[in-house]
Amino acid sequence: MEGEQLKTDKINLESFWTPWKDVEELDFRLGKDFDLVVLGISIGAFPYIAPELSDASAKWKAMVENVQTARTLAMQLWVNKDISELGWTMKSPILDAYAQPFNTWADMSQLICREDWGNEVRSIAYYCGPLEDSVPHEDAVQVVHDRAKAWLSQFSGLHWPLGCSPGSTTDLDFKNLADPGDGVGDKRFDAQFFRANVDPSERYVLTVSGSTDFRLKPGESGFDNLYLTGDWTRNGFNAGCIEATVMAGMECANAISGFPALTDIVGLDHLKPS
Ligand SMILES: Cc1cc2nc3c(=O)[nH]c(=O)nc-3n(C[C@H](O)[C@H](O)[C@H](O)COP(=O)(O)OP(=O)(O)OC[C@H]3O[C@@H](n4cnc5c(N)ncnc54)[C@H](O)[C@@H]3O)c2cc1C
Repeated sequence: MEGEQLKTDKINLESFWTPWKDVEELDFRLGKDFDLVVLGISIGAFPYIAPELSDASAKWKAMVENVQTARTLAMQLWVNKDISELGWTMKSPILDAYAQPFNTWADMSQLICREDWGNEVRSIAYYCGPLEDSVPHEDAVQVVHDRAKAWLSQFSGLHWPLGCSPGSTTDLDFKNLADPGDGVGDKRFDAQFFRANVDPSERYVLTVSGSTDFRLKPGESGFDNLYLTGDWTRNGFNAGCIEATVMAGMECANAISGFPALTDIVGLDHLKPS
């Protein structure tokens, strides 16, 4: 019965902003339902999912208040030219600190063989960057779409000079974009993928000045049976990246099981007595 209603009302249960009300709450009991909890969700969600922990622990509260997070935006383009045909003369890049808001470009062409485009797609480009909190969540995807269009008209010529519209040195000719519907002009742009990361659990973890001391270590949550993992923990790297995430995961495993030894974790191996 609920399934039909979910379908009719187009409810997305994965969205934090869903109007759907929870139908019941379940209690999980230590020893019966679980042995320990590993918390690995972005710290951006903690004010919503675990306010009780902030109430119970000053250290936890200080961490949640001081380790800051930001929304992000992204677009993904499927392109019918490879990056050298677009005028990129260097190796396949991850390029950062580029023009805002799509300040990062990663050539993701290694994924072409995982998709089923045949010869139509010759490169795949992922772009991402920051999205301010003031954009209403219900408008955010449209805002990303519009900003992407404006950005490509202004900045794509810098890295893809051979992909520009005739007579332009800045704007992307949408003829270069793959479109399963084989549309014309803007339709080819509209066929690409745009994403606004607006849920609290999707927020990117920042390392703002003076905040690192407030992070808690994976094995030092301050609560029995609760272990922490994620780039937001005090993990030795303390930044929003995969290296920090992997270190945190290994430190969490160490806290739970004693393995691996902290000194065997790349990034903490300087602790090993020489
Ligand atoms: C746009 C963007 C670009 C980035 N680019 C790079 C890059 O180029 N290089 C780099 O090293 N790092 C990059 N990062 C950072 C990198 O993605 C993070 O550091 C890393 O993913 C953090 O891993 P995590 O396990 O801590 O958290 P997440 O990857 O956020 O994993 C947490 C998981 O918990 C799940 N979850 C959330 N809520 C619940 C719930 N209630 N119940 C169960 N599960 C839940 C989520 O779905 C998610 O899978 C980027 C991040 C963003 C946002």
